[in-house]
Amino acid sequence: MIASKSLYPASDVSLRTLPISRQQFLVGAAAMAAAAFAGAPAAATSAQGTDIHPVEIAPGVFVATGAHGVYAPANGGDISNKGFIIGDTAVAVVDTGGTARVGLELLRAIRALTDRPVGYVINTHMHPDHVLGNAAFRGEGVQFVGHHKLAAALSARAERYLSYNRDALGAEAFESTEIVLPTQPIETVTTIDLGGRQLRLEPHRTAHTDNDLTIRDSKTDVAFLGDLIFAGHVPTLDGSIRGWLTVLGEMGAKPARKIVPGHGPAAMDWQPAATPVIRYLDAVASDVRQAIKAGRTMRETIATAAQSERGAWELFDEFHGRNVSAAFAELEWE
Ligand SMILES: [Zn+2]
Repeated sequence: MIASKSLYPASDVSLRTLPISRQQFLVGAAAMAAAAFAGAPAAATSAQGTDIHPVEIAPGVFVATGAHGVYAPANGGDISNKGFIIGDTAVAVVDTGGTARVGLELLRAIRALTDRPVGYVINTHMHPDHVLGNAAFRGEGVQFVGHHKLAAALSARAERYLSYNRDALGAEAFESTEIVLPTQPIETVTTIDLGGRQLRLEPHRTAHTDNDLTIRDSKTDVAFLGDLIFAGHVPTLDGSIRGWLTVLGEMGAKPARKIVPGHGPAAMDWQPAATPVIRYLDAVASDVRQAIKAGRTMRETIATAAQSERGAWELFDEFHGRNVSAAFAELEWE
């Protein structure tokens, strides 16, 4: 097993149940929201670096970026991109950040811009930094939307995601954070109507994970690609390297006008976004295949494969070894 500070540990850690009741969450959430609406200074949360500042990347499409890192007190678990799309009748949120508190700040940012109801909370995939803010959005009429395999994947990892990241962040910043499973599973390409604009939701084959879902807005041709695209932050492989390369290849045939990566800038063009990810995954796949052919062990392969990519990415040491290990396990059965 590789030592890793990954936010989704491969090995089991001790399981614990969070003693936070629904009522406690609602009281906490209401108090935080009331303070936010009253314009009270949120000194505690600011100090933990979890302020949300969405930028409008296209008319009615907003994205707030996160820090590049693993869960740590300094970033408050705000380490991935999240956004929202405002229609004439409803708002759709795409990913909710890594804690209930980050989710609540995202909700506060939405409320500062519109009083239209949040109709949909869409999760791009199972990873905790993208889904653990969901609890802040629970309410009447809100659909939680995800790939049809998201519920099973998230349920299987729920206790680990909660206990591991709570330990990394501290109980206070993690307060009220819970797993919220999708209420609307997506099995085939599905359209959601927000009034005046439609979102095209596409579930993918196993790639970054086995539950990647992309969202494309009809009005602006912006696509939220979740962690199928990383920029700056090294890609992390938790699905299939072959599937991921296939999905990116297919996407390149008809790319959106602008894309939103799961980690990186708020918006990018397809080509500069996809090229480094494909190059990285190709390097890993090619070096791992060569190592397997030469009869090298997984340990030897981890030390040598795709080291040419080291200077190109942040968090390389945190994730690259695990990526190689995952690719090795997949490709040795080719
Ligand atoms: Zn991810």
